[in-house]
Amino acid sequence: MADGKAKKMWALPGAELTAPASLLMHGGDASLLQLPCPSFLIEHPKGLVLFDSGCNPKIIDDAAGYWGEVAQALPIKWSKSDTLDKQIAGVGYKASDVKYVILSHSHLDHSGGLTYFPKATFIVGANELQYAYWPDPDRRWAFILNDFLPTRAYNWLEFDQDLDLFGDGALKFLYTPGHTPGECSLLVNLSNRKFLLTGDTVHLRAAITQEATMGIDTDPIQSVKSIRRVKAIRDMHGATVWITHDPDDWKEHPHLVE
Ligand SMILES: [Zn+2]
Repeated sequence: MADGKAKKMWALPGAELTAPASLLMHGGDASLLQLPCPSFLIEHPKGLVLFDSGCNPKIIDDAAGYWGEVAQALPIKWSKSDTLDKQIAGVGYKASDVKYVILSHSHLDHSGGLTYFPKATFIVGANELQYAYWPDPDRRWAFILNDFLPTRAYNWLEFDQDLDLFGDGALKFLYTPGHTPGECSLLVNLSNRKFLLTGDTVHLRAAITQEATMGIDTDPIQSVKSIRRVKAIRDMHGATVWITHDPDDWKEHPHLVE
């Protein structure tokens, strides 16, 4: 039962943020990087699955109003023609076709599009939602309460362990906490290759090599364990790691995988 396959995976572009490498990993330098904030749409015979939802489109017109001070620190490039609903329409689906939304974690550059999917089932790591509502004060800037308030009545499922989403090995939710309390990754088994989507379990290629944490990880020791777990699963499954914000991963990997 472990040889199920996802049919297609699209990497859908979202906002592009500018930030120094030093924000993304300990030991990173001051060089500025253009960071993709993609969502991944995955077609499986039992339903359409979305991994992450990018930034809230309200930042296109009023980043400072919606994000507050952090908008100044993270310059944004994004256009109204590239919002998540339009990206999904561009590949032939509607947002209402999405059956499951897996949220890697609740930071502002991942959870901004939740309200496109009011009828979906949401899957998240344990304790993530509680933390999104009441983060530690020095990390509060990275969470936007208004991304979550409209979703309180949604169907949320929390897991504190791995989950084989359809029971066939095609999509494996991997519990990889540390960056946040419920950070997760997703292993996607397609016909010809496997991708391990890390979310923010790790932020740059150099950080996976060096097993480097970043400044706002809630539990850095657990972060290192999760990075090692990602590397072990990558090697055991022959998977390609796709780090959400890594500009080289975004350039190198195909945006449609069949
Ligand atoms: Zn994050």
